[in-house]
Amino acid sequence: MKISKSFIPTLKEVPADAVVQSHILMLRAGMIRMVSAGIYSLLPLGYRVVRKISEIVREEMNNIGGQEFHLPALNPKEIWEQTDRVNAFGDILFHVKNREYVLAPTHEEIMTYHARNVVKSYKDMPQIWYQIQTKFRNEPRPRSGVIRGRQFLMKDAYTFDVSYEALDKAYMLHDKAYRAIFDRCKLKYFVVGAFSGAMGGTGSEEFMVKSDAGEDTVAHCDSCGYAANLEVATSIVNGKARDKKSDALKEIHTPDVKSIDELCEFLKIDETQCAKSRIYISDGQPVLVLMLGNDDVNESKLEKELAAAVRPGHPEELAEITGADAGSIGPIKFKHRIIADNRLKDANNLYSGANKNDYHIGGIDLPRDVKKIEYADLRTAQSGEGCPNCDSKLEVFSAIELGHIFKLGTKYAESLGAFYLDEKGEEHPIVMGSYGIGIERILACFLEQNHDEFGIIWNKVIAPFDIQLLGLNMKKKEVVEASEKLYKELTTAGYEVLFDDRVDAQAGFKFKDADLLGMPLQIIVGDKKLKDNKVELKNRKTGERYDVKLGDIVNKIEEIY
Ligand code: ATP
Ligand code: MG
Repeated sequence: MKISKSFIPTLKEVPADAVVQSHILMLRAGMIRMVSAGIYSLLPLGYRVVRKISEIVREEMNNIGGQEFHLPALNPKEIWEQTDRVNAFGDILFHVKNREYVLAPTHEEIMTYHARNVVKSYKDMPQIWYQIQTKFRNEPRPRSGVIRGRQFLMKDAYTFDVSYEALDKAYMLHDKAYRAIFDRCKLKYFVVGAFSGAMGGTGSEEFMVKSDAGEDTVAHCDSCGYAANLEVATSIVNGKARDKKSDALKEIHTPDVKSIDELCEFLKIDETQCAKSRIYISDGQPVLVLMLGNDDVNESKLEKELAAAVRPGHPEELAEITGADAGSIGPIKFKHRIIADNRLKDANNLYSGANKNDYHIGGIDLPRDVKKIEYADLRTAQSGEGCPNCDSKLEVFSAIELGHIFKLGTKYAESLGAFYLDEKGEEHPIVMGSYGIGIERILACFLEQNHDEFGIIWNKVIAPFDIQLLGLNMKKKEVVEASEKLYKELTTAGYEVLFDDRVDAQAGFKFKDADLLGMPLQIIVGDKKLKDNKVELKNRKTGERYDVKLGDIVNKIEEIY
């Protein structure tokens, strides 16, 4: 393709509204333009990459026996009501104004609708159905460019099986396909969540990429591959060792001491001698949560432990429940449920609030003084702590979800009436799985991982073009002739070539544009080297340059590729 005849609106400056690298690069390289918040047009260069990524996804889905569909984005609302997902999606769901339709944010409903009408016997399964199609979600905070759009492309697949064992197989196939897809795109990714493997399990795995643009926080171990969302991540960290001798309880006047730091300062003690108390309300009942030192309560873990939602108690509630304000609460004589973090297991000689303003209590021996106490893992893991699998150092960082595989079970089959008959003629709900990948997210994550200060660094697998050919001074006849000839020769040899044939652009400008657009190879045709019948070849990634005889260029490129 010739640049003079194409629409690749590159930008020199960083656009004001973009902060994330992939967003900046896509705008600067003329791959996308915003139409409205979270709504983007893919321009020709961007769409070329999206098509290549889609093709990789398609090949790997076909490899596991997937059959490609194309479902409507416009869905009757009624079918979404049958699964109660108009409610479940809430404001995320786009409604068409006459309220008869919704714009599909995913396609479990429509796929199950089709299965209901045709998958009627055990002989009709297994089935793997997928599509690469536009999804609509009214994301409350669309940002980071196409990473979180209100309209985006998803590869979504759905499997239909007779049993949970069969679902396990379908799930494993998708795990394999996803790894193949991300490997082929040369992405550095990791997987969060474990195979449940078990029958009836509702296993799920998320394929993630480390990125400041991510909205998930994960703990990851580079040594063994352990990865978990911070909401559930555990770590190896020492608890408070039990002292040989327990002191007696003693009340201490601690005027104006409200925080653990202030208490340590006032009593000249270490924070690991303190138990911090927090009151939560769950199901209308107060719960005192006890943490070692300054450890934070992980509310997700607490909710899991209590199997109910929690909220921090309001100041008035604290006073009513304990007789004291937030800074003076403690476990001694506390009348309701108490859960302590595992780091406090059987600890003694602790300081905590006295449930009386301006007083603390020392010498607390939890097994001796707090009769009804439960222990659980309630803290948030932190960078540098031990990996729960191998004790190497954990790292906590932000990450983006690239894809998700999920064992649905029979929820959709049951609510939409998709049943099959087994060998004995007995009826059962179809067992389903669902599997999604964000196509633009693959592109964005690739850019997050593959750029330098000058621009994008494509690999040959998903690059919009293999080669950028730069005719340096297109006012000179010999440059025009040699570059036009090379353009034909390389195109005939099967390479996709972006030819910078602009007459008025300066050499420096063309170099900058070529580095920004980032094709794996650049061929630079200038009048000086042409005198020796040579052109210059540059490897965008390594920066290596070669002088190559005109006749050898195809061979040399093949050698590099
Ligand atoms: P997130 O937690 O990031 O919002 P999700 O859990 O809602 O993702 P799924 O419903 O599992 O995502 O959708 C499958 C895939 O679709 C995701 O793994 C992601 O790659 C992509 N995706 C989801 N929402 C968006 C979006 N708003 N813009 C672009 N891609 C998206
Ligand atoms: Mg989402």
